[in-house]
Amino acid sequence: MRDLIIVGGGPGGYVAAERAGAKGLSTLLIEKGELGGTCLNRGCIPTKSLLNSAKLYLHARESGRYGVRAQGVEFDLGAAMSWKNEVVGRLRDGVAASMRGAKVEVVRGQAEILGPRKVRLRGTQTVLEAGNIILATGSSPFMPPIPGAAGNPKVVDSTGLLDIKVLPKSLAIIGGGVIGVEFASLFSSLGAKVTVIEMLDEIIPFMDRGQAPLLRRGLKGVSFKLGCRVEGIDSGRVSWTKDGKAESAEADLILMAAGRRPNATDLSAPGSGLDSGPGGVKVDERMRTNLPGVYAIGDVTGKSLLAHSASRMGEVAVDAILGGSQAMRYDAIPWAVYSLPEAAGAGLTESQAEARGIDVKTSAVSLRRSGRFVAENGLSAPGECKLVVNAANDRVLGVHMVGAYASEIIWGAAAAIEMEMRPSDLREIVFPHPSVGETIRDAAWGLD
Ligand SMILES: Cc1cc2nc3c(=O)[nH]c(=O)nc-3n(C[C@H](O)[C@H](O)[C@H](O)COP(=O)(O)OP(=O)(O)OC[C@H]3O[C@@H](n4cnc5c(N)ncnc54)[C@H](O)[C@@H]3O)c2cc1C
Repeated sequence: MRDLIIVGGGPGGYVAAERAGAKGLSTLLIEKGELGGTCLNRGCIPTKSLLNSAKLYLHARESGRYGVRAQGVEFDLGAAMSWKNEVVGRLRDGVAASMRGAKVEVVRGQAEILGPRKVRLRGTQTVLEAGNIILATGSSPFMPPIPGAAGNPKVVDSTGLLDIKVLPKSLAIIGGGVIGVEFASLFSSLGAKVTVIEMLDEIIPFMDRGQAPLLRRGLKGVSFKLGCRVEGIDSGRVSWTKDGKAESAEADLILMAAGRRPNATDLSAPGSGLDSGPGGVKVDERMRTNLPGVYAIGDVTGKSLLAHSASRMGEVAVDAILGGSQAMRYDAIPWAVYSLPEAAGAGLTESQAEARGIDVKTSAVSLRRSGRFVAENGLSAPGECKLVVNAANDRVLGVHMVGAYASEIIWGAAAAIEMEMRPSDLREIVFPHPSVGETIRDAAWGLD
């Protein structure tokens, strides 16, 4: 009998497989689609590839300000899509190679769990057994039951929008979360008229409340309709109400970006006994489900719908299988929005800390303190770095940023939170100059 079967080959499943294989566990990975999962094939990577093309286009158009004259700048959607497909293909080959390197056997098919130690390949009589099972089946776009949405060719989800052949002149986005905001940035950079309709009174609900408006202001050409409830769609017209008043907008395409749901209901056979529901497969801090030897990781747990969370959960599950004692910690997981400008954060915001009854002190500095930021963005670009510190013990609880390079800097903030650093510790670290990251240190001096 094998040591481990992993169901799902996304960043949760393939990282768990690589770690398990490297530790000598005989491992089988079952994937019904493509290796790399949502992240590599229709999520993180294709969006970042297209966002990079859009940023290059915008930079080329605006380059005159920086002394570079470019004429006849055009965006070639077909070429940008080909580049995106090439990037995805190469990385997918890389995942396959790492599976071979770790001696992980990969099987194509849709698996369902029968109970502890047993999975079946759907549509076959093949039952596979292993000492342990890791469920890593991910999540799918949530399509709210909005009248006029189902079967409407103008309504797409994120997967559909990543494969369009013609650029829309106008795009309506239902949902102002990370996915909605990234697509808003992408298409507005390419000249589309973008309208984001969000039910809550602010975009990206987990962002610092002061920085979300900063991000919105930075997203040039995007019209945000906040506190608006979408009531229906008629061909390309989206109708919503705000404070009881009806409004609408017409668009060439409508992106449904109203969140994602764990693929938890369809993965266990009747009678498997797995404790799961629409909110996800239930797990403890070591990713153990209620069934002995069965673990769940990544989006399917509904705990943190991020690729790097999925990978870390995979490592924690493999550690548990190997008899270790690691536990999953969620308090310092960084997140990033790769829009133009970027936003990123790690740890608690001021309001999240206050909701937990933690007394905090904060320090916020403009990114214009950074010479590099000014040289590359000028003085009108929005940017801020904010530090949230526990007033009782002086430990860093959170770092939140809007502006260039935020996504590349934020891991350092996660490290500071994990290491329970104080602002005085940050002040003793030397940062490279000029860099945007220096603003974290500047913010720490603001708490002297
Ligand atoms: C447009 C978009 C952009 C995103 N951008 C980012 C980003 O920039 N950064 C970030 O951290 N996250 C991002 N995400 C989220 C990220 O993609 C997910 O958090 C991540 O992919 C979750 O990894 P996972 O391994 O849990 O699941 P997945 O990546 O969804 O992988 C699950 C795999 O399981 C397979 N599977 C499902 N059921 C079965 C079954 N029964 N049998 C066999 N195989 C099965 C699926 O085919 C899939 O390949 C983005 C998501 C989207 C949609």
